[in-house]
Amino acid sequence: MVIRIPFAWSRPAAYPGCVYGDGRMQDSPGFSAVPGPSVAPAPAPGHPPAAAGIPRATCLVVGAGIVGTLSALRLLQQGHAVCLVDSDFEALCCSTGNAGSVSAGSVVPLGMPGLWKQVPRWLIDPDGPLSIRPEYAGRIAPWLLRFLQASTPDRVARIAPALHALNAPSIALYRELADALGASTLFQATGQLQVYTSEQARQKDAGGWRLRQAHGVAMQPVERADIQALEPAVGAQYTHGMFLPDEGMVTDPRGLLQRLRQAVVQAGGELLQARVQGLQPQADQGMRVETTHGPRTVQHVVVAAGAWSHRLAAQLGDRVPLQPQRGYHVVFEDSGVALKRPVVAAEAKCFATPMDMGLRVAGTVEFGRLDAPPSPRRTQALLKHSQALFPGLRVGDAATRSTWMGCRPCLPDSLPVIGPSKAGARVIYAFGHGHLGLTQAPMTARVVADLVAGRSPAIDIQPYRAARFGAGA
Ligand SMILES: Cc1cc2nc3c(=O)[nH]c(=O)nc-3n(C[C@H](O)[C@H](O)[C@H](O)COP(=O)(O)OP(=O)(O)OC[C@H]3O[C@@H](n4cnc5c(N)ncnc54)[C@H](O)[C@@H]3O)c2cc1C
Repeated sequence: MVIRIPFAWSRPAAYPGCVYGDGRMQDSPGFSAVPGPSVAPAPAPGHPPAAAGIPRATCLVVGAGIVGTLSALRLLQQGHAVCLVDSDFEALCCSTGNAGSVSAGSVVPLGMPGLWKQVPRWLIDPDGPLSIRPEYAGRIAPWLLRFLQASTPDRVARIAPALHALNAPSIALYRELADALGASTLFQATGQLQVYTSEQARQKDAGGWRLRQAHGVAMQPVERADIQALEPAVGAQYTHGMFLPDEGMVTDPRGLLQRLRQAVVQAGGELLQARVQGLQPQADQGMRVETTHGPRTVQHVVVAAGAWSHRLAAQLGDRVPLQPQRGYHVVFEDSGVALKRPVVAAEAKCFATPMDMGLRVAGTVEFGRLDAPPSPRRTQALLKHSQALFPGLRVGDAATRSTWMGCRPCLPDSLPVIGPSKAGARVIYAFGHGHLGLTQAPMTARVVADLVAGRSPAIDIQPYRAARFGAGA
């Protein structure tokens, strides 16, 4: 199956302050656009002063996915000079293709006690939620061992509150953000419906449901009649489920990212299309950043480069076991399925979300190289699950259906890395959000802004430190 890019996206119109690494450039407030050494800039005309008590700093954010873009925006709101760098602003990064679910109650790590018992069955089933590309099996083995070590009851008991701290504020923060962008329809507080084909299947996830309950997540068991009333399009074989009233969804993740990048420019930030190749601490506490568009010297670097972040962290001596978990989606533009909220086929681990461009069904975990081509088999599995979930689905053809693959940045304990690097607060990490990056990005951005300002973040960031993996990562 061919991966089709469904939209045309006009950069110049969208980003009046963008500097492209191929030499084209437009006005770029706050930073020198000329390749070569740069110094801390004077405030650009019209640029807001630093927030009260916070010294104005020059910041370079690597990665314009949802985590980097929201971090850039927060830093700008504090009055800092910000350059947001991405190797390709038009690429369909993970933040554009996700399932759009703002999963405020997802305190359950991927590695739960006893999960390993299901893994062999998943791997044998060609339509199962997990697959490992044969050439990658040896490479992923040490990571899987760490994953198992993080799946014990005592580790899970420590991981869940750390997930909760990042997830719980997400609904309020997205509501606030959508209003501020003047795009209130981009975010909707809809709740979420998870469905199973039997009580036995629901019981398999009982540990996760108990964990949610212990963290005060609102939920309500539902049976067939409730499912029918909530979402009539769901097939009759889905007889059991759980309704989570306090979850939300983004109706167009790519549209949201586009609006946020525009907001970065409007707030005086610079967008620079270039690949960041090197990070070098300077004697004066600054950072020299080598890019394909020349070097920059800044006071703070934020590494938010998704599944590529570990390469930059390694340059500073932080060894982080980041692995890509390749996920897929199918968008049915003319699905004939009317949903009010995200529906999760819990056994297949697929999300179906009603989005502006159509019905998006997303999921599956595939371990493989970052640059390996998409596997058509994974897309076919998603198609099959979509038809099982919605018997009335119009699957359409290549003209009305688009497919996508992206790499989730994943750490073995399901927690991101957020916090200072070995080089101190001049390099701040914000990556590894795995399956929950859309949900966790707003709170992560707040923490990043606090660290740049030298303030204590509102949440305890110890669980997210890079050093938790030790020297052997
Ligand atoms: C199928 C699927 C469904 C998902 N569903 C959900 C969901 O419903 N809810 C949820 O909360 N999360 C979901 N996620 C997870 C979420 O999408 C990710 O966690 C999140 O998008 C990660 O964002 P990011 O900004 O860290 O990385 P990315 O979006 O990958 O962005 C990183 C950016 O960094 C750039 N970059 C990398 N290296 C460099 C460099 N050296 N120089 C310059 N630029 C660089 C890349 O070009 C890229 O644009 C899903 C993921 C997948 C795959």
